[in-house]
Amino acid sequence: MGTVHYLLLCAVIFLPETPAFPIQLRPASWSSIDLEKVKRYLDTFFPILSKTQHLSIEERIKEMQKFFHLTVTGKLDKETEEIMTMPRCGMPDDIHDEGDRNFRVAHGDGSPFDGRGGTLAHAFAPGDGIGGDAHFDDDEKWSDINQDINLFLVAAHEFGHSLGLTHSSDRGSLMYPYYSYQNPKTFTLPEEDKRRIQKLYGQHGSAPDCILL
Ligand SMILES: [Zn+2]
Repeated sequence: MGTVHYLLLCAVIFLPETPAFPIQLRPASWSSIDLEKVKRYLDTFFPILSKTQHLSIEERIKEMQKFFHLTVTGKLDKETEEIMTMPRCGMPDDIHDEGDRNFRVAHGDGSPFDGRGGTLAHAFAPGDGIGGDAHFDDDEKWSDINQDINLFLVAAHEFGHSLGLTHSSDRGSLMYPYYSYQNPKTFTLPEEDKRRIQKLYGQHGSAPDCILL
């Protein structure tokens, strides 16, 4: 009986405090601002899917840290906080299978852009409706040189999504979700991206497997 009372007491204490995320209680040392920031980032870029719905917020941070090859602490350390604020693509990172992709298309374009910095652009995988569409944040200062945000590099990344590529956790890949400048005049598509796009569409000169006419 004692245990039952204790559990009921816990339920009474915790439920009113956590209406929006009953599973993810706030780690004691975090401020509510940190928690909101982290939660917004994870919900946007590592959204809760059927396989991740039981994870605590610390476990979700660990998933994010693993994806970016950071030290896996489950905490909002400096390295993790920094990467969360860098300019990046607006599409989620943790998308692996067809079910996840359906989630993404169904999710639609309900996420508006966020002013200068942060999310730069997003694009949708091939499909009906918004499938294949690429959108760019009007508030960014776009350029064709190494200043502000280079449009060519972001557009090349987004068109990768339009063609069906998901994010890569390899820093050298065009499909890495964070922006970094390189000279568009000498840009060549990295090997990993070539391999991935050829997996979808076939190599140059070969008939792709996926199109039957
Ligand atoms: Zn992207």
